[in-house]
Amino acid sequence: MTIIQTPQELQDLLKNETRSIGFVPTMGALHHGHLSLIERSVKDNELNIVSIFVNPTQFLEGEDLDKYPNKFDADEKICELAGIDILFYPKKEDMYEDDEIKVISPNIRGYVLEGAMRPGHFDGVLTVVMKLLNIVSPTKVYFGKKDAQQLSLISQMVRNFHMKVEIVPLETVREDDGLALSSRNVYLDKTQRKQALKISSSLKKATQLVIQGKLNTKDLQKEMLKVLAP
Ligand code: AMP
Repeated sequence: MTIIQTPQELQDLLKNETRSIGFVPTMGALHHGHLSLIERSVKDNELNIVSIFVNPTQFLEGEDLDKYPNKFDADEKICELAGIDILFYPKKEDMYEDDEIKVISPNIRGYVLEGAMRPGHFDGVLTVVMKLLNIVSPTKVYFGKKDAQQLSLISQMVRNFHMKVEIVPLETVREDDGLALSSRNVYLDKTQRKQALKISSSLKKATQLVIQGKLNTKDLQKEMLKVLAP
């Protein structure tokens, strides 16, 4: 496996590439959720690339940019063992200059749900994904459905900008008790972890009710809030 730091080096390396390229963009601290994307990419493609980049522009003031978990040595081993050919590990200065053009997320879909709590977050996500896709020019790119709003906005960007890549969405990998795997789970203490688990429990509850034919959204919301209550 080759580790590449700059976009220029990576583009030079890929200049005459004719093989199919699978690409998995990540922020590192890899877990089985990431690995499911990596394994699928390796299965589908002849050349496989993972990026690890904690993208500063998608973090808001006061968020965890400075303490985001870094496990580069373990990540490198995971990628190598999984059959990744190139690990792209740029620094902030390799990816951004001052006063750049940005991709702006749509007014409504970028500012509801997570976007309502983190205004501007998805502008940063779309901008870095645009950059990464232009640097790598993959045949297929792999994203988790765990980050559903991100996946939906990236799909819209690819559609709106007529980008050639094929997006492959993959299911959420969870702990046995239902908690979605996330690099940020290490922040949770016992009580918070219990509370976090209620998110998947409430979703499960809603799914059961829908299967039973209960489709009134107000009632579904009420039942979910019961599960979420502390
Ligand atoms: P991140 O490193 O958090 O930026 O995630 C990189 C990619 O892995 C994104 O496409 C995420 O949606 C995906 N991912 C993260 N956690 C999981 C999970 N538990 N199951 C499936 N995919 C995941």
